[in-house]
Amino acid sequence: MSEVLDKLVNKFGDKKVKVSDDYFEKYGVDWYKGIKPDPLAIFFPETEEDLIQLVNLASNESYPIVPSGGRTGLCGGATATQKEIVISLERMNKIEWLADKQQIKCQAGAITDDAKALADENNRLLPISLSSSSSSSIGGNVATNAAGAKFIRYGSTKDYVAKMKVILATGEILELQKEIKKDSTGPNLMEIFFGSEGSLGIIYEVVLNTCEKPTIREDLVIQTDDIEVIKNGILKPEIKQAISSVEYWDTNCQNLLGSNPEAKYFVLVQLASSNAAEIDKCLESLAEKELNISLLNSKQAEEAWAKREDLPVILADNNAYKMDICIPIEQLGSFLLKIEEIGQTEIYSFGHLGDGNIHLNIVSKERELELIENVYSLLKDFGGSPSAEHGIGQRKKNIWSDFPEYQSKYLLLKKIKKSLDPKNILSPKVFFSD
Ligand SMILES: Cc1cc2nc3c(=O)[nH]c(=O)nc-3n(C[C@H](O)[C@H](O)[C@H](O)COP(=O)(O)OP(=O)(O)OC[C@H]3O[C@@H](n4cnc5c(N)ncnc54)[C@H](O)[C@@H]3O)c2cc1C
Repeated sequence: MSEVLDKLVNKFGDKKVKVSDDYFEKYGVDWYKGIKPDPLAIFFPETEEDLIQLVNLASNESYPIVPSGGRTGLCGGATATQKEIVISLERMNKIEWLADKQQIKCQAGAITDDAKALADENNRLLPISLSSSSSSSIGGNVATNAAGAKFIRYGSTKDYVAKMKVILATGEILELQKEIKKDSTGPNLMEIFFGSEGSLGIIYEVVLNTCEKPTIREDLVIQTDDIEVIKNGILKPEIKQAISSVEYWDTNCQNLLGSNPEAKYFVLVQLASSNAAEIDKCLESLAEKELNISLLNSKQAEEAWAKREDLPVILADNNAYKMDICIPIEQLGSFLLKIEEIGQTEIYSFGHLGDGNIHLNIVSKERELELIENVYSLLKDFGGSPSAEHGIGQRKKNIWSDFPEYQSKYLLLKKIKKSLDPKNILSPKVFFSD
């Protein structure tokens, strides 16, 4: 082990290789603190060449490595637990505007907000919208296929990736693209890297498409005791086209935020379009419904969205056990009623109501295990996904056995992993236990 460290330091020097506890504490672990970090070293490549040389060294030595971006992942995917070398892509953070195609070329360590700001400067939109976007990296967004509050309108990170460069654990380089919309040259193999959580290859360069930036925006709040109102009211096709986000939080969260709940659910809706008539039509249609709606001015909207963004942080500070699940939208109302029945005061829920992707936060240590089991059991009844956003990482590997419907996927993933990483050196603890 120390031989590898010697080789690493001799080859790259101590500016790029860090071995002190302060670096281990900061760079050896992601946002999930339930797994203790234990890296061999933190390596900071500054160029493609550095990265290629490191991967070749690890491959020759059969030594484990873990890619790391902004470390905002919530499943321990970027956490080193058995003396792996953590490859922090933080210094590979260049961003370039490609004017001809209105695209952004990023090195993987580029911060999401910096890429979004570059799109904005060029009057375009990069709609990857996460509360962690001031720290998360583009490589991490691709590796987790991140999607947030604007999924309902814009989809997830994978929908914006035009090209990417990946280095495999064997040192081979792949240059993948899906710029041509219709392409039947076999399966689109770029897809396997979306959500691969560092276990199939290290993404080091990404070209992202951008889209038209809406010029008009309206934010509104609906307070309701009946979540079905979303399905019956605002998700109607004629209204849906102007909607860019439908987020909510429940009474428990309202209390936590210090607000005075007027109803069980606080639903925050954003409309966005470049067509004023489209927004007007949507507002008129909403006004016809018997809903408790308030239009927000820009200051109120900013405050409401800040509260929504603060929620995951406040709940983490309260040691909440986080579950990010997805329920078919038609059944969300009845699912939330069941959640109330099993943990009225212990389960705090908020999230992306428009897509059925909700974050359940269990705040009772005494009943935590029981409530997790109850939620899983409900999920099975409702045919939902046990991980709709944050992935599996090292933390949620139980899902493979708890949800037998994922068995075929697990087997295929294992075969792909074996063929791309025969020595099992790339994030060996992610997805798999052996
Ligand atoms: C407050 C908060 C809010 C969040 N909100 C959302 C949300 O709304 N939607 C959502 O989807 N997620 C959300 N997340 C989760 C997280 O921010 C995203 O998954 C994000 O995309 C991770 O990016 P990162 O750079 O921080 O990745 P990291 O945490 O550094 O890594 C995540 C995984 O990707 C791998 N990885 C990182 N970089 C690379 C690379 N270049 N090549 C290959 N693998 C790599 C790592 O090994 C790890 O397995 C949130 C997290 C926090 C803390």
